[in-house]
Amino acid sequence: MKHYAQGLLLLGSSVLATAVAAASVSPPILTGAPSAAAINQRCTMFVSRSTAMRKALETSKGAPGVNTTLAAYDHLYQLLSDASGESTLYREVSPTAASRAAGEKCEVRIASELTKLNLSRPIYEHIKAIKAPADEPTKLYVSRVLGAFERAGIALDAAGRAKAQALADGASKYSAEFEANIPKGQRTITASTAELDGLPQDFIDAHKPGADGKITLRTDYTDYIPVMTYAKSPALRERFYKEYQLRAYPQNDEALRNLINKRDDLAKLVGRPNYATLNFEDRMLDTPAKVQALMDEMAAATKPAAERDYAKKLAALQQLQPGATKLQPWDNAYVSALVQKQSYGYDRQEARKYFQYNNVRDGILRLTEDLFGVQIKPWKTPAWDKLVESYEMYDHGKLIGRFYFDSHPRAGKYEHANSVPLRTGLAGQVPVGILVMNLPAGKGLMEHNDVVTFLHEFGHLLHGMFGGQSPRWAYQSGVATEWDFVEAPSQMLENWVYDYDTLKNFAVDASGKPIPRELVEKMNRARYFSLGMDDNRQLGLTNVSLQYYLGPAPADLGAAARAAQGKYDTLPPAPYSQFQDAFSHLGGYGAAYYTYRWSIVIADDMFTQFQKNGLRDPATAKRYRELVLAPGGAKPAAELVQDFLGRPISIDAYRAKLAKDQ
Ligand SMILES: [Zn+2]
Repeated sequence: MKHYAQGLLLLGSSVLATAVAAASVSPPILTGAPSAAAINQRCTMFVSRSTAMRKALETSKGAPGVNTTLAAYDHLYQLLSDASGESTLYREVSPTAASRAAGEKCEVRIASELTKLNLSRPIYEHIKAIKAPADEPTKLYVSRVLGAFERAGIALDAAGRAKAQALADGASKYSAEFEANIPKGQRTITASTAELDGLPQDFIDAHKPGADGKITLRTDYTDYIPVMTYAKSPALRERFYKEYQLRAYPQNDEALRNLINKRDDLAKLVGRPNYATLNFEDRMLDTPAKVQALMDEMAAATKPAAERDYAKKLAALQQLQPGATKLQPWDNAYVSALVQKQSYGYDRQEARKYFQYNNVRDGILRLTEDLFGVQIKPWKTPAWDKLVESYEMYDHGKLIGRFYFDSHPRAGKYEHANSVPLRTGLAGQVPVGILVMNLPAGKGLMEHNDVVTFLHEFGHLLHGMFGGQSPRWAYQSGVATEWDFVEAPSQMLENWVYDYDTLKNFAVDASGKPIPRELVEKMNRARYFSLGMDDNRQLGLTNVSLQYYLGPAPADLGAAARAAQGKYDTLPPAPYSQFQDAFSHLGGYGAAYYTYRWSIVIADDMFTQFQKNGLRDPATAKRYRELVLAPGGAKPAAELVQDFLGRPISIDAYRAKLAKDQ
């Protein structure tokens, strides 16, 4: 708190004073498992600070300029970004339900502050009046900020703006509620000891039967993925699938319906035909028609691969169930693992022995050091749980970032994996971020897919750190490009954990023996199998996200989601599925789940440079860091990629990848 006051006391005096004062930093986050009251108090401090800064900017008398008006806007933006990341942290990882609820409430309050800023006529007029800035990043900044004002509803009269504020506030409230309901909506099933037949021994050891002789399985990834992949019993898999498809149902239907309707009303109020149109305007693919065209192009590309995948899987199922004519969703992972073993010689359980959490974590850190020439050291700082790990990153002796890993499941914790920026990198403040994951701890064994996810999320942290080294503007610091580019760096990085020279450094079994080269070769042969079907599933999810936001909420959310999914997915969800209620991206990503599809096209394209020059080629890694990551959002993403590739983005590499499995 004291730390905070140094930067914040001068606020009210004038825009210029604010600009100077705010060169200081946001305070460190509250790390000692703060109470709900402490989180509320913290949030109130952020809100009053934001209010004071906004009022000062609104009433400033001087001529609008880059170093005054825009700088003051930027400091306010930074404050709200930091506050927003911090409140997400409290919602996702706080040990008590009350603290998580306080984090959720704070997210909504902070989002409201951002909307107030984007609906402030005086601030809009000041920024609009800034004389054309000389440098390109600042020009881009001004145009993006003016776009944000317009999308918020700045052109409306006072009554219209008040309505826009209320709708945006409502949408944030329902979005936060929707996401918070998902971990609360976790379910369990019970299984007999016999039904665990096929599962790895370490999983069985960690799931002892209760007093009634039954084993409890929870619908989080750490239980769900292994059971669906390895359990021989189709009855168990079907039971678990069914329960999994009903997470947070029906309680989240109402939050989702309200969220879609508030966003639809807001879009119409600001003169757009639907929320998807509004949502895409600041993206690389900036209209629903462009997104639809991408989906069509990708669906055409995946079709032959998906047909091959399906035929192989059905043949494998028929060995187990002679006469089977159709694959069921709960057979998919199990049969895929079987095909990988039978046709490619790749045994996922064999690979699993080499992925102990501790080793994987250290391997990812070492890979980062090797590839980018940085050093990572433990960071001694308090945290909210004893298993949280924290690190500092140095570049030639200079501190360039800090991060936490909150890697293991706890009751009530966020259920997926994500990366949350906590502090914006700017002069005087190093970037700070966190990975929230749900992996086994210590010597616990991970699936190779978990290793992929870990590195993927770490890629977001790296982007935040490399892109947050003294940028001119907080607005352009770190992961600040168009939102449909943001997955590309992380998706590209996933390739490294298929690389033997990387894996041999950390993938060792309990006796210390490194993963055999032949096993990695088999893993790579099996890698492209099922990509067609997997990508069709992703296209289905993309379609759910798009269709929901092309109008008001459909009467039957579940039926609409199943229909939209079924249009692309080779294995449509079962008729009782209500997966929309646990599809968390419908909150934060809104209509734009397609981000993952467009980003993978870019990721595959960028990766061609490493394929050509070597995955461990320091010169290519350096160019990539400098040209793609370091600029943050100071250039349009298409230009960043073009700078690196020397040509515009192409879908050819993605297509070539789909053809690799024959
Ligand atoms: Zn990601």
